[in-house]
Amino acid sequence: MPGLVGRSIIGGQSGKGRDEAFRAVDPASGEPLAPDFFSAAPEEVSQAVELAQQAFAAYGKVSGHDKGRFLRQIALRIESIAKEVVERAELETALPKPRLESELARTANQLRLFAEVVEEGSWVMTRIDRANPARQPLPKPDIRSLLRPLGPIAIFGASNFPLAFSVAGGDTASALAAGNPVIVKGHPAHPGTSELVGQAITDAIREAGLPEGVFSLLFDRGTQVGVALVRHPLVKAVGFTGSRAAGRALMDIAASRPEPIPFFGEMSSTNPVFVLPEALRQHLDKIASGLYASFTLGAGQFCTKPGIVVLPEGTEAGAFRDRLRDLVESSGAFTLLTSGIRSAYCSSVANRKTRNDVAVVAGETGLAQGASFAARAVVFETDAHSFLNESDLAGEIFGPSTLLVRHRTHEELLRVAQHLEGHLTATIHGTDQELSNFRDLLSILEQRVGRLIFNGFPTGVEVGHAMVHGGPYPATSDGRSTSVGSAAIFRFCRPVCYQGFPDSALPPELQDDNPLEIWRMVDGHMNRKPLSEG
Ligand code: NAP
Repeated sequence: MPGLVGRSIIGGQSGKGRDEAFRAVDPASGEPLAPDFFSAAPEEVSQAVELAQQAFAAYGKVSGHDKGRFLRQIALRIESIAKEVVERAELETALPKPRLESELARTANQLRLFAEVVEEGSWVMTRIDRANPARQPLPKPDIRSLLRPLGPIAIFGASNFPLAFSVAGGDTASALAAGNPVIVKGHPAHPGTSELVGQAITDAIREAGLPEGVFSLLFDRGTQVGVALVRHPLVKAVGFTGSRAAGRALMDIAASRPEPIPFFGEMSSTNPVFVLPEALRQHLDKIASGLYASFTLGAGQFCTKPGIVVLPEGTEAGAFRDRLRDLVESSGAFTLLTSGIRSAYCSSVANRKTRNDVAVVAGETGLAQGASFAARAVVFETDAHSFLNESDLAGEIFGPSTLLVRHRTHEELLRVAQHLEGHLTATIHGTDQELSNFRDLLSILEQRVGRLIFNGFPTGVEVGHAMVHGGPYPATSDGRSTSVGSAAIFRFCRPVCYQGFPDSALPPELQDDNPLEIWRMVDGHMNRKPLSEG
């Protein structure tokens, strides 16, 4: 493996960059890591986007079979340097090696999932309404539609998943699968990992004989490159994972351009968990230990971390609190990803601690000695009345912390649910009988989140066809979408309709013979037959 060069990759070429350099920081020691990384210059941002636009002319028309081969090649290339990628990611994130190894496997599997989808081909959702020249009073024209890619897509790598939501993560995989070139703004917390993965994608592009502008990776520490990308007139959509503040700022830029573009931001979610009375009585220990494992997983730096736990007032709530206290007090310190995330965590915890309406159940302070970005788990508690009156209690604290909310009546429980803004997930712990007694709760939650979980925990998002990793604002900027699973591809395409065209001039997906043998809706019915057969 060649050494890291610290330069952006612009359509396969090494960028020069601006004068200022930055380094990754080892979260365990606080020490900077060589080499220097150079932020992309403004003209390099334009160059990357223009190359992407040129590449789109060819890449947007590449067959599903060839795109599948390309995505599989990226997966293979990343796997072939897995050891180096994991070693560098470990240094840059202090995440445990097994977690990084499984994240790398997930990243490769995600690429292969999209390869399967585009090779099979039916994802373009072909619809054909056949002509009827005899229709009265007017003849009916032949109309056929399918999904087409958008053009160059800007993707922001996330800090908390250096592989699966970063350079070759779900956003990139789904945008490439749909036929779009991608320009990634790498997250400055893991630039070395980003460069290695970026190089793997570049190699796969060369092997596949695709135009080099299909992929660029731009480095920056700061907002200059990200803002320039979102403003660039040739960029046609954006994928983002990060904070609500940054997501909202970029979303507003995308909407206020002369040509507004779709912005798919995954921003902030507290993932409420509702523990119903009988489940608490029957499974107190199991729910407490499952909750502890879930809100401390990855040091609590998961978008699906359960940050609000709603439970009934009473003896069991006290025992539940005691159990959580034992678990927190026997746990060691956690290492957070960046000094910024650590200081945001510690100040949010300190702020909550000073409030009269919130008690600390366990973990007196978020601070910890030891590793440079170390922090301790904290559990807070409040009652439904305070929760309903203080909107900031529902906000995300990124890190190993959660808030218990005690309620006294069924009505109060429903008011808490109604008070929630958009989240990625909501979880219910209950018996089957309780699920039926609390249908009203489920109806409210269905309006608030993208994924409902029964007797489980929200962390650990499966990558598959049915997964929804999205939710109403502010969980995401567009609650009609998912950023995980094969349906993520639908963010980066748009429907196009052909009316009255001769068969030979149509894309193969729309031709009479159905040469790709895909599923199509013909006159309202799904089939895979040539039009001559029905
Ligand atoms: P972030 O601050 O939102 O940054 C994400 C990316 O956006 C980075 O590349 C950042 O660039 C860029 N950026 C930030 N502000 C921008 C702006 N105004 N204009 C253009 N680009 C901008 O997220 P983070 O660094 O990953 O972590 C900070 C906080 O984000 C965490 O404490 C947590 O609250 C939240 N977070 C949430 C999730 C989630 O899944 N819900 C995931 C990760 C982080 P630079 O870093 O180069 O400035």
